[in-house]
Amino acid sequence: MKKRVGIIGGGAAGLFTACLIKRFSNGEDIEVTILEKSSAPGKKLTLTGHGRCNITNRKDASVLKDCYHEAGNFIYPALKEFGPEDTIELIEKHIGLKTKEEANNRIFPVCDSAVRVRDALLSYISGSANILCDTKVTGIRINDCFEAETAKGTYSFDYLVLSCGGSSFPKTGSSGDSYRLAQNLGHTIVPVRAALAPVNADKDSAAFTKALSGVSLTAGISLYSEGKKVCYREGEILFAPFGLTGPAVMEMSREIPSDISGKGAYLELDLIPSVKDEDFDREFQDLIKEHADTKITNLLARFVPASVASAVAERAGAEDLYAQGFTRENRRALIRETKHLRIGLESAPVLEGAYVTRGGVSLKEVDRKTCMSKIVPGLYIIGEALDIDGISGGFNLQACMSEAYLVSKDILNR
Ligand SMILES: Cc1cc2nc3c(=O)[nH]c(=O)nc-3n(C[C@H](O)[C@H](O)[C@H](O)COP(=O)(O)OP(=O)(O)OC[C@H]3O[C@@H](n4cnc5c(N)ncnc54)[C@H](O)[C@@H]3O)c2cc1C
Repeated sequence: MKKRVGIIGGGAAGLFTACLIKRFSNGEDIEVTILEKSSAPGKKLTLTGHGRCNITNRKDASVLKDCYHEAGNFIYPALKEFGPEDTIELIEKHIGLKTKEEANNRIFPVCDSAVRVRDALLSYISGSANILCDTKVTGIRINDCFEAETAKGTYSFDYLVLSCGGSSFPKTGSSGDSYRLAQNLGHTIVPVRAALAPVNADKDSAAFTKALSGVSLTAGISLYSEGKKVCYREGEILFAPFGLTGPAVMEMSREIPSDISGKGAYLELDLIPSVKDEDFDREFQDLIKEHADTKITNLLARFVPASVASAVAERAGAEDLYAQGFTRENRRALIRETKHLRIGLESAPVLEGAYVTRGGVSLKEVDRKTCMSKIVPGLYIIGEALDIDGISGGFNLQACMSEAYLVSKDILNR
């Protein structure tokens, strides 16, 4: 009998599943239907990689699973069965787009267009999958098959793939429906919060970051909450009118508690992370001795961009000071503002601006070798709907692809 496969959500995970079913079906007659709530599939996919689609990452296989935080062990079998090299081969040989490798092993299509990636996926599955847009699934019933309820009617399937995303960037269509649908079928939802998100500074700190808006540099960032250091990251940060963004800040955002009120949470920036406090102080004292007539701001500009030097010197009360007469107290203030620069937080990062969702369907209730629900046989849950969030660099799309492979293989083997 012909297998009827329903895919709820035509985002990255749903489209990859349809592609992989086609790729490995070996002529088997299989009916694939994608039910998509929006007017067009893959809206979020078209925004990825700043519109260029960072599709995967060629990082060494031995460290790949570490890029998924607590979910590393869950995702490991999927990555092993269908890893970055398999994704590249699929995209190049079957989807028909050449790829290239950029800094930090990130893989992009040569055409630098996420829209073209989405369109190429659609073109590959046209004829093998039926995509119904403007078709929001509002409920799932289970009788002797799966029944997906929509305003246009009920659709019946033998296997159902739940891939309607998380709660991040809800304007693209992923607004938490996966969780409601899964919960109604008995699944537990690990509380969701923003990951890979920009950080909003409080009013005072935002005045500082706004003045430096557009400037980026490599910094160390420590997150403090309830008087304790929660974590430390080092990497590129970008000053913005509302606070901070850039890869290192976004990667840290998942650690910021969802309710920061009363926790005294703040970020501490080290603007010269390659030099210890005492070494910086020593080097600066040497400079002071050698350049007595030079403004402090200009000496500081030897360590950080000139605009940052000027803003930091102002915070340290040294904007009008010269090397001559620069006291020990002055030096202490300068070290504080350069290597322990405090950015107060206005609020926890919000899902509206987050690239991915932390939390989601509990991994304890999903088989990591097939992505099938342990509660509802025949139901597969993949993509951002799951409690998996990867670091930035192509790892989130790779997770969707690897999970989609497990699903397609399991369905085709039945
Ligand atoms: C700005 C931005 C840039 C990013 N860049 C990258 C990058 O370069 N590399 C990378 O690896 N990751 C990137 N990501 C993350 C990546 O896009 C996501 O991890 C990925 O899209 C998740 O795929 P998904 O299919 O699970 O969810 P989505 O892509 O969100 O797809 C879910 C789909 O389900 C549909 N849907 C929702 N509810 C229903 C319903 N009830 N019925 C029917 N359909 C429904 C939605 O309309 C949507 O089309 C980026 C994310 C953002 C926001």
